[in-house]
Amino acid sequence: MSNNVRVRFAPSPTGPLHIGGVRTALFNYLFAKKHNGTFILRIEDTDQNRYVEGAEQYIVDALNWCNIPFDEGPGKNETFGPYRQSERKHLYKQYADDLIVSGHAYYAFDTAEELDVQRKESEAKGETFIYNWHNRQQLNNSISLSKEEVEKRLANGDEYVIRFKMLDLKNEGTHGTISTTDIVRGHVSFQKEVLDDKVLFKSDGMPTYHLANIVDDHLMEITHVIRGEEWLPSLPLHIALYQAFKWRTPEFAHLPLILKPTGKGKLSKRDGDKLGFPVFPLEWTDPKTNELSRGYKEDGYFPEAMINFLAFLGWNPGTEQEIFTLEELIKAFDLSKVNKSGARFDPDKIKWFNHHYMQEQHNVELAEIFKSQRSELSTIDPEYIALVIGLIKERATFVNDFWELSHYFFVTPTTYDEKASKKAFKEDTPELMKSLISVIESVSDFTVENLQTDIKGWITSNDIGFGKVMMPLRLSLVGALQGPDVFDIIFMIGKTETIKRIEKAQNNI
Ligand code: GLU
Repeated sequence: MSNNVRVRFAPSPTGPLHIGGVRTALFNYLFAKKHNGTFILRIEDTDQNRYVEGAEQYIVDALNWCNIPFDEGPGKNETFGPYRQSERKHLYKQYADDLIVSGHAYYAFDTAEELDVQRKESEAKGETFIYNWHNRQQLNNSISLSKEEVEKRLANGDEYVIRFKMLDLKNEGTHGTISTTDIVRGHVSFQKEVLDDKVLFKSDGMPTYHLANIVDDHLMEITHVIRGEEWLPSLPLHIALYQAFKWRTPEFAHLPLILKPTGKGKLSKRDGDKLGFPVFPLEWTDPKTNELSRGYKEDGYFPEAMINFLAFLGWNPGTEQEIFTLEELIKAFDLSKVNKSGARFDPDKIKWFNHHYMQEQHNVELAEIFKSQRSELSTIDPEYIALVIGLIKERATFVNDFWELSHYFFVTPTTYDEKASKKAFKEDTPELMKSLISVIESVSDFTVENLQTDIKGWITSNDIGFGKVMMPLRLSLVGALQGPDVFDIIFMIGKTETIKRIEKAQNNI
């Protein structure tokens, strides 16, 4: 095995990639890049029954959108390929056979019906049926049956599965322990006697997840397995498999669960719909039911915000810093700083990140997105739109918020906030607005500074009081007592439009 760090993200294409899957991919990516290593995408599609059309493409699109593309994977740098397990089918049987030869695995001929009877019997006794050292001698397998009988059955083409002999009574007695050090969880230890003899190879000629996963990690020279905590129960079997094959065991890091916003229970795929936020990076339409699930991308989140947010689900740099570019994350990321305890998913926090990254986006690029969303902007100069965005984006979390915050830069208000009108328009307002119009008309060089100096100068020298002018002025321009600096608004919409709006408001309020 080379010393280069090689990690893999190994999703099963059974549906869209859940946000937790993206976090796993991200941690693999950060770890790989930090160590100048390789980030591999492997599609674990051995379970044909659970295969979902379009899911693999979705995974690739999601990684690309998040800016964490894989270095090796289906269709890309296929040195260790193929990277789809369904295309590696022919490889696995040999390894299962090897384990039979070395005495670590055995043929089991029990039919589904027979196992069902066993299960029911255990249930009746209030026990859970488990196929392992304590009963394998009484079941139908190559340990309990005679050599001749086994050969006869195999030659006969009887259906069988290959099971792993978890506890080897001959060599280990009825006790055995598997322990290792997980990078996140520290020392972990498992008692072999409570574990079952897992199926490695199925009667349909396909390996199970466990066998394929270990064989591929070995053949692809994976050095670190970074995956969700839900795989921790599989760890003893995986380690036992490495030992049985006499292969070097990679290092393991099991990432903490992602919890619901309440902190209670695991965040599930269904929670998004229930709690009103996306749990998928991209929108997804279920090919069978046509049901649409929301995605962060389509909801207006920036990939930078999502990555920054996900990085903090289970990891933190140990400092106060919260804003990290991808480059900074790569530098700061440290698997040993990943927490054991579950990470609470806080949908407000990702909004906070989005607001931050919104401020960092180029206004010209934001203008392009905004323009494409609103027909009212189709004929408006993109540069003007970008300037408007510069004035209002401080208060926006999404591009979707722009129109609400800026429509008056593009169209004359037709309605005026009622409460504000009462507050702003007094008896002497018409007179004041008339004078204001002449002040504005006489501003020769129409700049924000000149507007400010002339209007403020006129107010002070006539002892009018700012509110008396500014409130009706703002209401006329915006339709409400909101928005950025009034002088910026006047400058942006121009002299003629400003005067038009002041006059229009007087006629309408
Ligand atoms: N195919 C497994 C999954 O869907 C991979 C687990 C692992 O990383 O070993 O998550």
